[in-house]
Amino acid sequence: MHRTALVALPFLLVGACSTPDSRPDTTAEEQRRAPEPIAFEKPTRPPPVAVEHAGIAFGESNVDAKLPAFFPATTHDVRVPHPDVLLRQPLGTFTAHHDEVLSALRAIAAAASDRVRIAPFGRTHEGRELVQVVIASPENMARLDDIRGRIAKLADPRGIDAGELDEIVKETPAIAWLAYSIHGDETSGTDASVAVAYHLAAGTSADVTGILRDVVVVIDPCQNPDGRERVLGMFEQSSGYVPDLDTASMRRGRWPHGRENHYLFDMNRDWLWGTQPETRARWKAIHAWHPQLLVDAHEMGSQDTFLFYPATDPLTPHFPAFTRTWWQRYGDDQAAAFDAHGWSYYTREWADSWYPGYTDSWATFQGACGILYEQARYAGGSVLRRSGEIATYREAVHRQAIGSIANVTTLAKNREAVLRDYLAEKQRNVAADTDGNARVFVIARGREAAREEHLVDSLMEQGVEVFLNDDAFEVADAEGVRGVTVAREVPAGSFVIPARQPLAPLVKATLAFDPRYDAASLERERKELERKGRSKAYDVTGWSPAHAYDLDALWCATPSVNLRPYERTARDEGVVSLPNEAPIYGWVVDGDADASVAFAARALEAGLAVQISDEPFRAADRKFARGSLLVRRVENGNDVRERVERAAREAHVVALPVTSARSRDEGPDLGGRHFDLLERPRVALLSNAPISSDSFGHAWHALDVLSGVSVSLIDAQNFGYADLRRYNVLVVPDGGGSVLSDHGEDLRTWVRAGGTLIALGGDAASALADEKMQLSAVRRRSDVLDDLGPYRRAVEREREAGKTTIDLEAVWDGKPVKTPEGPKEEPKELKGDEAKERDRWASTFSPQGAILRGEVNTDAWITVGCEDELPVFFEGSSVLLSQPPTRTAIRLAASERLRMSGLLWPEARARIADSAWLTVERQGAGQVILFAASPVFRGWFLGTARLFTNAVVYGPGLGASVPAPR
Ligand SMILES: [Zn+2]
Repeated sequence: MHRTALVALPFLLVGACSTPDSRPDTTAEEQRRAPEPIAFEKPTRPPPVAVEHAGIAFGESNVDAKLPAFFPATTHDVRVPHPDVLLRQPLGTFTAHHDEVLSALRAIAAAASDRVRIAPFGRTHEGRELVQVVIASPENMARLDDIRGRIAKLADPRGIDAGELDEIVKETPAIAWLAYSIHGDETSGTDASVAVAYHLAAGTSADVTGILRDVVVVIDPCQNPDGRERVLGMFEQSSGYVPDLDTASMRRGRWPHGRENHYLFDMNRDWLWGTQPETRARWKAIHAWHPQLLVDAHEMGSQDTFLFYPATDPLTPHFPAFTRTWWQRYGDDQAAAFDAHGWSYYTREWADSWYPGYTDSWATFQGACGILYEQARYAGGSVLRRSGEIATYREAVHRQAIGSIANVTTLAKNREAVLRDYLAEKQRNVAADTDGNARVFVIARGREAAREEHLVDSLMEQGVEVFLNDDAFEVADAEGVRGVTVAREVPAGSFVIPARQPLAPLVKATLAFDPRYDAASLERERKELERKGRSKAYDVTGWSPAHAYDLDALWCATPSVNLRPYERTARDEGVVSLPNEAPIYGWVVDGDADASVAFAARALEAGLAVQISDEPFRAADRKFARGSLLVRRVENGNDVRERVERAAREAHVVALPVTSARSRDEGPDLGGRHFDLLERPRVALLSNAPISSDSFGHAWHALDVLSGVSVSLIDAQNFGYADLRRYNVLVVPDGGGSVLSDHGEDLRTWVRAGGTLIALGGDAASALADEKMQLSAVRRRSDVLDDLGPYRRAVEREREAGKTTIDLEAVWDGKPVKTPEGPKEEPKELKGDEAKERDRWASTFSPQGAILRGEVNTDAWITVGCEDELPVFFEGSSVLLSQPPTRTAIRLAASERLRMSGLLWPEARARIADSAWLTVERQGAGQVILFAASPVFRGWFLGTARLFTNAVVYGPGLGASVPAPR
């Protein structure tokens, strides 16, 4: 395959002695640094928005009331239309729709075209526009590209002389990026964005002109239009003529609410991963600016007040000092702005910055000072608070707007100091002597090419520099992804990501295998668990992408070999043609690639007979992994080649033609019993309350987007009416436990007739492990505390299987078996109430989201595409135990080897070690597949997502029996 052309490095990355400070003063260098142009729209005045609404009183809005101005001390240019006349009701008296917001912003931009420009930068799954609204003084607007180019030099100061950098710091406006309502049902931010845009576009007094002299403000008014539109429909459908002040009212929306985007992904957790198009578009848009401030406006519980930063501990390791320093100043100034109104607020009480993939954390790791707001949620109306106060939505919008303006004012007033600190941080990032900078993150390629390239592409889109090593190199003390320190050779052409680069903190924090809480934070967390029985951790404690993607990765010292920048190349896909059109036996797709499952799904959908191998084999002069697919010519119609070609192209794989059924090594021939016929999956996915919207969304995305499987979404509320005979796969996400329990009889009948029932962690797997369900021999640990012995012995036997040397005398001559260690002593275990009480206490320490070591049964069909170990996600207190005849496809490792990344207390470690993570059980003609935790958590875990897609696409053909036709 064609690799990259050699590109001149801006600096040498050879060895630790290289210096980044010599400036290549060529025009090519200037061209390289010139920022890509932003495609701004021509200002046009859109048609006015319809003013009258049908008359439903959303909230207590009253168009005639004299509403207090948001910024009474500021004078505004009357030629710029006020949002109150652009929207169908005054701003903040209702929740404006996405198109109404864009329409109002475009009208403001048209009237203040010397200050405001709008550029669309992407689209959502549902096709809605993502736009950035840039507001600057007319002078700054006229030199926007120059400003961006100058700020880009601060963001990457390598090779720029000190005098020029100093001049940039003194003379260049800073950049603020204001982002609103990434959680669609946290609505006030988006409405506030219109107030902020108007204020900055129309303000004529010094408070506004001062900001615009020193800051370019970029507004991302609606980060999640799909979620917002979904929930606004619910708000409106549930509103009546009489105001409803109850915070518990249905008026606040219903399943699946509006927090998440189309596939119900929480985009405030997606910044490291880019599983969603909104995130990927935003990476590019933000990277074009290199902001020094990024505000991310949210909402929280309606009885709460307002939270802003400084954040609370723990902070991610390598958290930039720039943010910690400036949080204090922004916080002080925002507090003063809120005090002027007598508003309540607080800082530091929750919202830690441990997970680095929140909007504000990611922004911080890009170099900006990231700030989170949490305003109490009033859902577009007014609510009665416990104090008796009636809080209005307009007040919520007002606070978001005041917060934003307070923050950009702080930035404007401290512009030079902020830019100087920003530059100093970037200079530290590229300096050789900065702590941790002499190391590189390496992906040795070959385990799963698509996942390796996917991670590297994602990092590059976030601005990370990625290189290839020209020559192999030896490392003495590499830190391996599986936790062992290894000496090994790194082959030429591996991906090498130096810690030392402008985004050093992002590289070090997000690619670290095992980031650990500092001692004080760990103590606080322990105290909280022991005293209050709850965790302070706001989100997962482990996130390592190398684990999530199951890559062969390592951290090691910077090697002394030449590194050249990696450039993306197109991947091969489709059908390969044979040179002389020899008679074709069939087409083979390698089962190592995740995309082979997508090929199978499409080929089966196209009516092809597809076979899958249960052992590796050799064909067309290359080796194919277990789980490789075969489409035989004679088993399919005349147009087989076209159908294979189409499926291969859609799945982005290569289908290799083979001319013989003979495997020319010890592997099986292609015409025999090691190939099984797959069955077209007819998939139902349980949807609607009480299903967890995340668990449902992640599963839907994995099937629909990653694998191209046609899926029917079945309503959990009307499950009794579903005709299950139409489907041969039923996927039950977390939250579906009660649906399973309520329909035990129907499910047993369906499974035993050939159905594949798949439960995705949490209460779904837990419900099936209930003895009363009569569908599984797997048990919840808490249900068998008095009888743990057989499970423990089953694990011992499983681990020993195939490892013992045979005692020949015992076999042939009947002599007693020699057991070198003697019989193992059964450990003493608590029983009865004592055991229950102990288990309850231990479960308090259950992980919030950690990465554990899974031992893979590589004989099970469900594990095709996996090696002998696999990092798996685990959260919660439900622990599953299994013993034969249940097939345990993934067993969690023994206690001392269990934890790979994230926080796992000793109590949890003892409970979870040796438990079952993935089981497959035959039930009549069908089967039950239990995942102890989500295999597709947030779209991160591509390693275990493979198991899920295997289960869905291969399950009907491999684990269940299909009657032969007659
Ligand atoms: Zn939120």
